[in-house]
Amino acid sequence: MKLRIAIQKSGRLHEDSIKLLKECGIDINNGVNKLKTEASNFPLEVFFLRDDDIPQYVEDGVADIGMVGENVVLEKNRSVKVATKLGFGKCRLSLAVPRSVEYNGVKDMDKLRIATSYPVILEKFLKENGITADIHEISGSVEIAPGIGLADAICDLVSSGSTLFMNGLKEVEVILKSESVLITNNNLNAEQQQLLEKLLFRIQAVKKAKNNKYVLLNAPNDNLQKIISLLPGMKSPTVLPLAEAGWSSVHSVLNENDFWDIIESLKAAGAQGILVVPIEKMII
Ligand code: ATP
Ligand code: ZN
Repeated sequence: MKLRIAIQKSGRLHEDSIKLLKECGIDINNGVNKLKTEASNFPLEVFFLRDDDIPQYVEDGVADIGMVGENVVLEKNRSVKVATKLGFGKCRLSLAVPRSVEYNGVKDMDKLRIATSYPVILEKFLKENGITADIHEISGSVEIAPGIGLADAICDLVSSGSTLFMNGLKEVEVILKSESVLITNNNLNAEQQQLLEKLLFRIQAVKKAKNNKYVLLNAPNDNLQKIISLLPGMKSPTVLPLAEAGWSSVHSVLNENDFWDIIESLKAAGAQGILVVPIEKMII
C-alpha cells in the first residue's frame, strides 16, 4: 500500500513542496513533464497537478493527501481535512483599489465592480460586511482589470505588493492570510492513516527545526546561573567546563522569535564566543 500525494506541477508551490518532502528524508525522482512518480525510500506516490484541482482530487480519493494553498482550499470548498500548515507559500488575499482613489473603509466597496479569481471567498467576505458589489470572476492577470476599465477594485493574492504597485494599485483590506497546508481525504483507511502519521511526524520535526537554532556560548562561571536562566532549552542547557579555568561552555536551543532579544541579554550577562547553528531535525 502506498500513500498518494498531490503537489503542484509547476508554479510557486512546486519547489517548496518537493523540498519539504526531501527534508523529510523522502527521495523522489522529479523528472520534467512527469504526471506522477514514486519515492524510492517511502511508500509514497506523487502526482503533479494544477493547484486548483488538488482539493477535488483529494476529496474524490484519487489522491489521499495534497499540498496546496489555504486560499485554494477555502475557495474550492471541498470536503477535505486540513492536517497541518506547512510554513511556505505565505501570501494574503487582499482588496486593492487604484492609488488615486480615496479609501475610508470596507463600506467604500459598496456597489463597486470587483475583479477576482476568488469569487467564493470574496462573496463571503462582502456578505459578512453587509456589502453588495458586482463580482467579476477572471482567471488570471486580475491586477490589470482596473487599468483597462473592467473593474473599480480587485481582490487578489499579494505577497510583496510589488505587482500591485506596478499596476498603480494600493492594498486596502486583507481578507485572508494564507500559507500552504497539507490536506487529507476524509476516509483514509487504517494503513493510509498510519502512513500519514509517519509523514506528519517528520513534517513536524522539520518545521520545529526551522523555527529553532542551536546556540553555543562561553560563559564566565561567576555569571553562569544568570546566563542559564536566560536560556529556555529543550530541558535545561548543557554546561561543560572549558579548558580555561573559570569558564564554561553552554549549549541550548532558542526559538527564532525570541532569538535576538535573548542574544542581547546573553551578551549583556557576559557571554562570549556565541555560535548559532541551524538545526536539521528536531524531535521532542
Ligand atoms: P497552477 O498552474 O498550478 O494553477 P497558479 O498560477 O494558479 O498555478 P501560482 O501562481 O503558482 O498558481 O500560485 C500557487 C499558490 O502560491 C497560490 O495559490 C498561493 O497559495 C501561493 N502564493 C504565494 N504567494 C503568492 C503571490 N504573491 N501570488 C500568488 N500566489 C501566491
Ligand atoms: Zn492555479
